[in-house]
Amino acid sequence: MRAIHDNLQAVRGRIARAAAAAGRDPLDVTLLAVSKTHPAALVEQALAAGMRAFGENYVQEAIEKMDALAGRGAEWHLIGPLQSNKTKRVAARFDWVHSVESAKVARRLSDQRPAGMAALNVLIQVNVSGEASKNGVASGEVPLLAKEINTLPRLKLRGLMAIPKPGADAARYRELKSLFDKLKGAYRFDTLSVGMSDDMETAIAEGSTMVRIGTAIFGLRQKIRPAA
Ligand SMILES: *Cc1c(COP(=O)(O)O)cnc(C)c1O
Repeated sequence: MRAIHDNLQAVRGRIARAAAAAGRDPLDVTLLAVSKTHPAALVEQALAAGMRAFGENYVQEAIEKMDALAGRGAEWHLIGPLQSNKTKRVAARFDWVHSVESAKVARRLSDQRPAGMAALNVLIQVNVSGEASKNGVASGEVPLLAKEINTLPRLKLRGLMAIPKPGADAARYRELKSLFDKLKGAYRFDTLSVGMSDDMETAIAEGSTMVRIGTAIFGLRQKIRPAA
C-alpha cells in the first residue's frame, strides 16, 4: 500500500523540482498515472493516494478497470493507438483521447460521443522529427487536422501529444512546443502531453503541461501485452 503512495510523492517531487528549475509553476504540469498492464487494485491504491487521472493503452483492458472502479471519480485517458473499429467504445467510456491522428477517427469519435456526456477531450498525436514510431501526424499536417477537428461538435480539441524516442535531444521537444504555441491562440490549446518516467525533466523544461508516468509510479510492467 505504501509503495504507490511513496512513488507518487517521489514523482510529484521530480515534477516540482523540474518546474522550479525551469521557472514554471508546478501546478501547470498535470500528472497522468499510466496504469496499463497493472490491475485495478493498484489503480485503487493510486486513487487512495489522491491520483485522479489515469492513462491506458488498450481499450478492453481499460474498460474492465473502469467497471471495477465505477463511481470512484477516476478520469480515463486513452494514450495508445486507436483504430476506427474501437471508436464507439472509446467515445462512450473515456474522458480524453491523446492519440488522435486522423480526421476519420476524429469524426467517428464525435459522431459516437453519447449525447448525455460532456464533449470528449482530444489531443492530436504529433510525430516529431526523427521519431522511431510510425504513430502520429507529421508536424506539417497538424494545422489542417486541427482545423477539421475544431468543426466537430462533440470533441474539444485541447492540444498536442508526442512520444519523443528515448534519448531524443531537446530540439525535438522544442519543435513540438513551437508548433503548440503557433496553434495555441487559434484553438485555445491548454494541454501539451509529453514526458514519461525517463524524460519528464526534459519535457517539463521544454514546456510540457501533462506528463504521462507509468513505471515510476506503478513499477515495471509485465512484458505480455494484453489483448487490446
Ligand atoms: C506506457 C506509456 C507511458 C508511460 O511510460 P513510462 O516510461 O512507464 O512512464 C506514457 N505514454 C505512453 C503513450 C505510453 O504508451
